[in-house]
Amino acid sequence: MSARLDALRAKVSERELGALLVSNLVNVRWLTGFTGSNAAAVVGAGAPRFVTDFRYLTQSAEQLDPEWEREIETDLLERVVAGLPDRPLRLGFDDAHLTVKQHAQLERLVSERDVELVAAGGIVEALRAVKDAAEIDRIRAAAKLADEAFEEVVGAGIVGRSERDVALDLEVAMRRRGAEGASFPPIVAAGEHGALPHAVPRDVPIPAGTLVVIDWGAQLDGYASDCTRTVATGDLDPRDHAVYETVLAAQQAALAAIREGPTGQEVDAIARAIIDEAGHAEHFGHGLGHGVGMEVHEGPRLSKQGKDALAAGNVVTVEPGIYVPGAVGVRIEDLVAVGVDGHEVLNGLPKALRTVQ
Ligand code: ZN
Ligand code: ZN
Repeated sequence: MSARLDALRAKVSERELGALLVSNLVNVRWLTGFTGSNAAAVVGAGAPRFVTDFRYLTQSAEQLDPEWEREIETDLLERVVAGLPDRPLRLGFDDAHLTVKQHAQLERLVSERDVELVAAGGIVEALRAVKDAAEIDRIRAAAKLADEAFEEVVGAGIVGRSERDVALDLEVAMRRRGAEGASFPPIVAAGEHGALPHAVPRDVPIPAGTLVVIDWGAQLDGYASDCTRTVATGDLDPRDHAVYETVLAAQQAALAAIREGPTGQEVDAIARAIIDEAGHAEHFGHGLGHGVGMEVHEGPRLSKQGKDALAAGNVVTVEPGIYVPGAVGVRIEDLVAVGVDGHEVLNGLPKALRTVQ
């Protein structure tokens, strides 16, 4: 964790902050290894500080490196401010996560002190977007576990079962294999229901002879996975076949371009051109992909808005889709680690159209 602390310290001084208050729990975990439900950290020039409440006295001692100064207090923000050095200080805070109420409290607490509060959200998230090898190992393990759950549940047959039941079984299968849970509620959507990108599984049986979009992921060891496969449940309408092949071609072309260098926008455009060409321009309404790490949606973005260049160590999804309202939906999603000269696909399920009964 110490490399992460050094990297954060460098960013804090680059932004000309005296210290940064890290209040978002996912960021605290990334920085310190602490997995409890209440904590904050303060990182600046001096010794790094960690504040939690009495419930985590023992756990924090076990999880944190000794370089952290641990402080125990019921009111975290009160303790954070009480421990600030007695000199003029620019204190960065996370304006993307701190609640209005917490911000008001922080303002009140520093009002008697020579402390300037500076909005500084996103600093830790930018560091988190570039994973180290140990993090990629964890994401790969989460993806593998999710693949195995899919084989167990979907491989056993889905026709006649309800979407909800299949989704629930995927969650249970992932938990049984050791996952903390699903990284998001699984999507199982048959036929025209698949045309809703964020379909909620229904209590209706999955019919034969249609496409079924299945989007699921595991949360394991603090890291998420995310994958989508669209399977056939028998002979398909030629229209559905053509949609599947178009999405597959778009997915493979965009995937081939994943490496350090191109922007999210540029990779998104590769998939979009193929889908537009097939006459489905208005049926691909979301971005090509997103970063995945401790959270299932994080930076960088692969979309029309994705201006940042991909960097080695990013882990992103590549997930074009075509959604024809009232007719059919197809999405194919891989989880990919970006390398200097290429990429590694972290999940392992094949993408050629598969039929399950
Ligand atoms: Zn997904
Ligand atoms: Zn995704």
